[in-house]
Amino acid sequence: MMLFDSHAHLDVEEFNDDREEMMKAAQEAGVSYVVNPGVDLETSLGAIEMAKKYPWVYAMVGYYPQETRFMTYELLEKIEELAKEPKVVAIGEIGLDYYWEDTPHDVQQKWFREQIRLAEKLDMPIAIHDREAHGDVVQILKEEKAFDRIRVLMHCYSGSAEMAKELLKLGCYFSISGVVTYKNNKKAQGVIDAIPLDHMCIETDSPYLTPVPFRGKRNDPSKVVYTARKIAEMKGISFEEVASATCDTAKRFYGIDQ
Ligand SMILES: [Zn+2]
Repeated sequence: MMLFDSHAHLDVEEFNDDREEMMKAAQEAGVSYVVNPGVDLETSLGAIEMAKKYPWVYAMVGYYPQETRFMTYELLEKIEELAKEPKVVAIGEIGLDYYWEDTPHDVQQKWFREQIRLAEKLDMPIAIHDREAHGDVVQILKEEKAFDRIRVLMHCYSGSAEMAKELLKLGCYFSISGVVTYKNNKKAQGVIDAIPLDHMCIETDSPYLTPVPFRGKRNDPSKVVYTARKIAEMKGISFEEVASATCDTAKRFYGIDQ
């Protein structure tokens, strides 16, 4: 059995005391692949470090919305250089976040567009962070012709079933996080029904978004098992089927062929 955690921040300080053990526990739980995203220059370098250290870890590089207020064209060039390193499989996480108010929307949008264009230039997939910004995220992706040119993954998908159906027509991929296990998540069943496994990935977003029954504690890739189990229950299929199909989908999305 193989599980693919499509999005986990392994390089963060929350794991500094027990990273080795945590990674071992993840492998023992059946996690065979993890992609570590970047949110700024430092974490993009951290993601590459993790990919160098662990054969089963891959990296993404990029600036996520709240960090774009510090972005410059010089930093964009750095991200471009890092994107060419071995085992960097996508540009991410990039997008828009209208929940936090520290970075103006126009600044977020400018650098979202620039990083989409970078991914298109390098012919790399993108992982999208979209928090309370669904309309603008989709509009910008369409204006930049992202769906025609590269593969697009909505990380920790939080939109409606209707939006998922619209995006599926464009070829979009989706990653489901531990939020799917939360009891107050009323949209979840419709979203899980709407997305076929050949366009669905699973993720922990470690150390955040810990699934039930560990909600409130630190998350780590071994807990992707709980998200897969919940999806299996909601789709009325086996855990093994969810694990292997989402692993295949993530490998196809990220272009990993081993
Ligand atoms: Zn993330």
